[in-house]
Parts: sequence; structure tokens; C-alpha cells
Amino acid sequence: MRRALVAGNWKMNGNRAEASALVDGIVSGLDGLDAVDVAVCPPFILIPLVAERFGNGAAVTWGGQNMDIHESGAYTGEVSGHMLRDFGCTYVIVGHSERRTLYGEDDALVAEKFAAAQRAGLVPILCVGESLEERETGRTETVVGRQIDAVVSNSGADAVADAVIAYEPVWAIGTGRTATPEQAQDVHRFIRERIAAAGARADELRVLYGGSMKPDNAASLMAQPDVDGGLIGGASLKAADFLAICRAAAA
Ligand code: PEP
Repeated sequence: MRRALVAGNWKMNGNRAEASALVDGIVSGLDGLDAVDVAVCPPFILIPLVAERFGNGAAVTWGGQNMDIHESGAYTGEVSGHMLRDFGCTYVIVGHSERRTLYGEDDALVAEKFAAAQRAGLVPILCVGESLEERETGRTETVVGRQIDAVVSNSGADAVADAVIAYEPVWAIGTGRTATPEQAQDVHRFIRERIAAAGARADELRVLYGGSMKPDNAASLMAQPDVDGGLIGGASLKAADFLAICRAAAA
């Protein structure tokens, strides 16, 4: 039985006051959410604040939105997986479409980041997903399969089965346009089968949906058999919305 995970990707938003208020709001609404794992991924600079506030026994974990492949050294501006672990991070997002498109991260680099994250003791949340043009030309499975295979061939299928995969159709991220539950289910099933075909037990692998998930569409997406939670962008910045999505996952 897979445990649902709802992770908030705050992206490059918030200051100390806003982050404190958001954490307070989340903490105040956690009752009844024992059946779901809740995590937030703030900007690097807000991780210490979140770690201090959630580190007091709140049932919320936290993670980074990105990391470098090296442990330490002359890599100006970068943050390593070991540094994230040192601040209590459980997760790190790798291969988010904004990293792939805005910062030129290709499949090979994403695969290296995935491996470095696991070496550092972090659970990678590997993002995969197709563009609108790729979907409309019938290439969704080709693209998602290629993104997954790059990581499987670098780290092995078992390593991927131990991680978390987030299916994030690029055309749904921050656009208000959401995959239908059927579209999400089709790709989630495809992802699980791809990992199983590579030789790993994929029945425990958590596959999250991401892309304009909101309180009003969360329940129907989460009701799909292969949707194990969500990676939430915009709606994770409002405690009430984020908690409503967590409640949908818990149900
Ligand atoms: C994301 O960036 O991971 C995301 C899912 O964003 P949004 O929920 O805003 O579409």
C-alpha cells in the first residue's frame, strides 16, 4: 500500500515573514492528515527557517528544489546534497521542467543530480513530462520514457523505484490547465510499467502528479489508482489550498 505524498514547490517565492506565516498556517491544519506525507520545498535561503519551525516534531518534512552534482568545492553559487542533508532535508526535486528549459539541464545532468542526491542520503523527486507540442504530436510516452531511461541507465531501476517520480506535463505547470484524471492515470501507469520493465519492483514507487493541481481538482486526480499524491506549485503558497490538497490525498 503506497502512502500518499503531497510536496509543495514554493519556487522562488517568499521572504522570512511570508514563509513563517505559511508554516504557521500549515501547522495549524495538520490534524487528521496522518495518512499522508506532507513536505515543502522552499528556496534554499528559507530552508533553515523551515527546518527550525518544522524540526520541532511537526509531521512535515522539507527538501530542496535543486542541487549540484558535486559534494563541495569551487562551484560558485551552487548548493550540494550534503548541505541540504545538513539542514535536515529529506527530499530534493531534480529535473523540474523550469530547470530543464530555463537553465538547460539535459537528461544526462538530471541523471547525475539524481545519483548525487541518493549518494547524499536524499530522496530525489524526479520530474518528468512532455511539452504541449510533444503531447499534440503523440510523443508523450517517448519523451517521458526517455527522461526515465536516462536515470535508470545511470543509477539502475531499483534506485529509481526507491525514489519519487513527479509527472508534470509542462503545458499544465503554472498555466491553470490541468491534465484530466484519465490523462494523468495513463502516464502514471506508463511510468510504473517502465520501471517494472527495467527490472525493479515498482508497486511501492510513488508517482505524484504536478501541474495546476488545486483544491477543486485534487480529489479526482488523486482518485486514480496510480496517482500517489501531488507536487504542488502555486497552490502550495496558500496554506488553506495546500492543506485542502493534502486532505484530498489523505482521503
Ligand atoms: C510545479 O512547478 O512543480 C507545479 C506543479 O506548479 P503549479 O502547481 O503552479 O502548476
